[in-house]
Amino acid sequence: MTQLTLGILGGGQLGMMLAQSALKLGHRCVFLEDTPHAPAGLYGQVYSTQQLDEFVAKSDIFSLEFENTPVATASYLATQKQGIYPPPNALAVAQDRLAEKALFNELDIPTVPYRAVSSLDDLQSACDELGLPLVLKTSRGGYDGKGQYIIKTKDDIATAWQELSDALTEGNLPAPLIAEGFIHFSREVSLIGVRGRTGEVGFYPLVENVHNNGILAKTTAPAPNADTLNQTAQASMKKLLEKLDYVGVLTLELFVSENGLIANEIAPRVHNSGHWTIEGTNTSQFENHVRAVLGLPLGDTGIVKPSVMLNVIGKYPDANELLTHTGVHFHHYHKSERDGRKIGHITVMSDDNDRVVGEVEKLLGCVKPF
Ligand code: AMP
Repeated sequence: MTQLTLGILGGGQLGMMLAQSALKLGHRCVFLEDTPHAPAGLYGQVYSTQQLDEFVAKSDIFSLEFENTPVATASYLATQKQGIYPPPNALAVAQDRLAEKALFNELDIPTVPYRAVSSLDDLQSACDELGLPLVLKTSRGGYDGKGQYIIKTKDDIATAWQELSDALTEGNLPAPLIAEGFIHFSREVSLIGVRGRTGEVGFYPLVENVHNNGILAKTTAPAPNADTLNQTAQASMKKLLEKLDYVGVLTLELFVSENGLIANEIAPRVHNSGHWTIEGTNTSQFENHVRAVLGLPLGDTGIVKPSVMLNVIGKYPDANELLTHTGVHFHHYHKSERDGRKIGHITVMSDDNDRVVGEVEKLLGCVKPF
């Protein structure tokens, strides 16, 4: 077997967990990342963007774990060594909410109604046409709920415009805003799929996600009562994977509404809502991504045990107390504590998940909404 070096754009915890899988399979990773002390650095050499040539020289093939990687860098790497997977066009679509929605609609995947907004007049027309409330978002660069404003009444229009209109001219790639019809969803779910170099496709089960202040707090896998939703989501995912000629793991985030599943966005990478697959399935999302990129056969995505994943946000729990619970898997990201920062995750796979999840939530200091 030839040992390959996978050059990954980004060096956060996703890169760290990809490297854990790559090492297990006999391969190595290096990373392109400017943040000092990046978690992935524990598993492979980190190069700054100034050291792109050295990063390329050390790599055999490329992938990414950071969604805001410049498309130009990914396109350049597509021409180097054995190329980059997923393809840069998938990254380009995922970085632009308008392109993403247009792709969903082209593939008959339902979305909320939306309008491109380039002026205050456009915003006013969007409010008239779509009705209120609506969500105004930057079409590029937003994450974890940032770059969004909910317009509830006509009085909010001017403030929303003031808050977000800078995005029209800022940055290297100025882009219109997007106004989206507000959806009263009953729950948020996501589907993780994987496509290999020969076109073979696999899916993890649909999972249910709960966010806190825009940040993922909890994933329940599989999502309860979701058989039909699962089939619909898989059909949408299959169309996306094929249309994008995708290789690797792709995530589709959706809302469950009274009109069925509504697609929100894609992430062209392994995803926080798939961390439970490390222990909860026969082959994790990280291993399957590495397998796909390196042209290896995909692994079985079947479930070992229903799981609940809780993110560790801001502050680490007391490991002595946490680890007294059976069926608890703790992943520490070697990041310093900071408000609102994802610094670890915990997967609970116990025979008494509700109780153990409750205990872990107490240790994490989760505040339950009334
Ligand atoms: P996003 O950045 O698109 O993932 O949005 C962050 C969060 O905002 C989502 O997880 C939803 O909870 C909420 N959200 C986004 N878009 C809408 C929408 N059109 N209607 C209602 N809630 C939304």
